Amino acid sequence: MIIDSHAHLKHGDAAHTEYLPQQIIATMDAAGIDKAVVFGICTTPERAIEMARAAAELFPARLIPYAYGLPSYTGDVLRMVERAVREYGFKGIKIHAGECTLSDYVSDPIFALAGDLGVPCLVDCCGNCAAMERPAAKFPKTRIIVAHLGLYLATDVRVIDSFIAMAERHANVLLDVSGVVQTWKIREAVRRIGSPRIVWGTDGPHPCPDTATFARDELSKVRALGLAPADEEAVLGGSIARLLGI
Ligand SMILES: [Zn+2]
Repeated sequence: MIIDSHAHLKHGDAAHTEYLPQQIIATMDAAGIDKAVVFGICTTPERAIEMARAAAELFPARLIPYAYGLPSYTGDVLRMVERAVREYGFKGIKIHAGECTLSDYVSDPIFALAGDLGVPCLVDCCGNCAAMERPAAKFPKTRIIVAHLGLYLATDVRVIDSFIAMAERHANVLLDVSGVVQTWKIREAVRRIGSPRIVWGTDGPHPCPDTATFARDELSKVRALGLAPADEEAVLGGSIARLLGI
């Protein structure tokens, strides 16, 4: 089963582009993707949860909703996220350091809640390995999925190396390989921390050249690595399926 563990109903690009669940499903069908984790960012947690809830209600067998764990002035985000997980069946929490800090006094309540609820946090930490390692060490019960091997489109392999080494130190850390251009580092990550802690995602939909081609290319990147079949199966879906209990 091929599972995209990172797809946006609303992106963090300059235009804050939104995609309808139908567009995500059409892209998945064109690329041969069975299921996708979906969430929104760059909006309030209320709206992001509503978008993901509506998407998963439309396509319950295909789309897996994550709640957006953004501290909010307009409501109690902890209660919103807890309700999303307990009542609406959300499977994880998205955190983006581009929209909030990972400082203890801001983000720790979400990391603690995720551990209590038994759902993972998918975190874009914008390349700040020390900021990511702090909650990883403090909340060993909380599974943390580090997006993009640490930094979106990182070209400096030393940055990626620091995140692979961090994952070696913390068994609760997984690495998401979306938005990775040094793709050979994915193979190294599999070798060093094991495929059960490596998850594939598209970080799509992405319109260039078109959403289906982009998704297919992201799949091809992993298939071109020459991983052992069991490792490839794990990275492309098995690992996230086990993590989320699906
Ligand atoms: Zn993303």
